[in-house]
Amino acid sequence: MQFPFDNTYAQLPDRFFTRQMPEPVSAPSVLAVNRDLADRLGLSLSDDPATLAAIFAGNTAPDGAAPLAQVYAGHQFGGWSPQLGDGRAILLGEVVAPDGARFDIQLKGAGRTPYSRMGDGRAWLGPVLREYIMSEAMHALGIPTTRALAAVATGDTILRETRVPGAIVTRVAASHIRVGTFQYFAARRDLEGLEALTQYTISRHYPDAQGPEGLLDAVIGAQASLIAKWMGVGFIHGVMNTDNMTISGETIDYGPCAFMDAFHPETVYSSIDQYGRYAYTNQPQIAVWNIAQLATALLAIMPDRDAAIERFSEMVNGFSDRFDAAWHDILRGKLGLTSAREDDAQLAFALLDAMARNQADFTLTFRALSGASPETARELFVDPTEFDAWFATYQARLDDAPDRVARMQANNPAYIPRNHRVEEVIQAALTGDMGPFHTLNTILAAPFDDQPEQAAYQAPPDASEVVQATFCGT
Ligand code: AMP
Ligand code: MG
Repeated sequence: MQFPFDNTYAQLPDRFFTRQMPEPVSAPSVLAVNRDLADRLGLSLSDDPATLAAIFAGNTAPDGAAPLAQVYAGHQFGGWSPQLGDGRAILLGEVVAPDGARFDIQLKGAGRTPYSRMGDGRAWLGPVLREYIMSEAMHALGIPTTRALAAVATGDTILRETRVPGAIVTRVAASHIRVGTFQYFAARRDLEGLEALTQYTISRHYPDAQGPEGLLDAVIGAQASLIAKWMGVGFIHGVMNTDNMTISGETIDYGPCAFMDAFHPETVYSSIDQYGRYAYTNQPQIAVWNIAQLATALLAIMPDRDAAIERFSEMVNGFSDRFDAAWHDILRGKLGLTSAREDDAQLAFALLDAMARNQADFTLTFRALSGASPETARELFVDPTEFDAWFATYQARLDDAPDRVARMQANNPAYIPRNHRVEEVIQAALTGDMGPFHTLNTILAAPFDDQPEQAAYQAPPDASEVVQATFCGT
């Protein structure tokens, strides 16, 4: 099996990474292979399960791979960590897809590296399947994200709170360059490294950007758009540390992330986010905070520091306007408004406020509004008259467009990876049954289709199924 590797990160200076082979595992077996993604990448995958398992477990390095662990730093929950890095992930290399797009192929859970600190370099089955499902669901929803090419079981057990089966996910990303990668070099005053990273990143992701300032502007645009898309599907990343924010604008590092069921702006699932720093509604502000760290790092290579501080501050402060523009467009799309009017956002926020007061399910409410009988959304409200009041205003505002239902359905998914379903998939996989995983994955590949035979997967959890907290689960 051949991967057409074309490795560029491996040609950056040695201090950008440590060359590191994956640590072999004892009895690898394939849990899932994403052949659609392989086609998109132009990879011809073997049909032999043993060959696939050996490659995606890291037991065999494919020809042309240049395995390495990347170094980075980052602010975790606001606290500075001068040295992080791939502690359990190994970049095999980059491939260039038939359309010219370049992708990293990385094994996550592939063993210890010099950046593992206290960790074992491994991942267990739960988070591996979770990342696979969530990232592929995000992709199907049209949200920029890393993707999952394969999941394998290692045949080894690892120790978490109990002994659990080890697994590895093969992650595909436009790159793994993070805000924290820039912070790493800036914090060490390694200006040559920072300069090289900046040039590399511009040519890889934003070839039209002019210098550090152009790069900052492009990242602000990409992140403003990304976070607005998250908000539009009720996604909560859960760990928006600067090392978990990509420069490419892709969603990365699926840990305790979750989609909301009942709408509430303060929703937090992550068990490690005690103070709600990364709650649903805080995500745009946290993005600004992270982008400010990127701006600070880039300042170090600006010739006129005072002038740059002024310009960068303006740009960082400009994030919220760019986010609002993107977010309001998304809300307009969700409500099926074809023209833009000044009070559209007010109309949308009035609905969200009513949903929050009435524990209305985020996804179901918008999907019901997108149907032939939008007034059925009222049944999702504890007090349906609160919906009725809003609905009257909404109907008066609606543009008279015949294709509204189709347009709204393309903006409001019927299916999201609900926490209780993801949990169900993991529990089944722990007993050796991958059936529910494949079923869920197939449904989530067409999230905007009605799929009437799968309607049960649209439903929120009943009281006994509610997942209260999600875990980093490393
Ligand atoms: P994350 O929360 O996945 O973004 O990880 C934060 C940091 O901890 C990164 O530097 C990871 O590489 C590292 N890390 C997480 N889990 C492990 C593990 N099991 N072994 C080694 N390092 C880990
Ligand atoms: Mg991370």
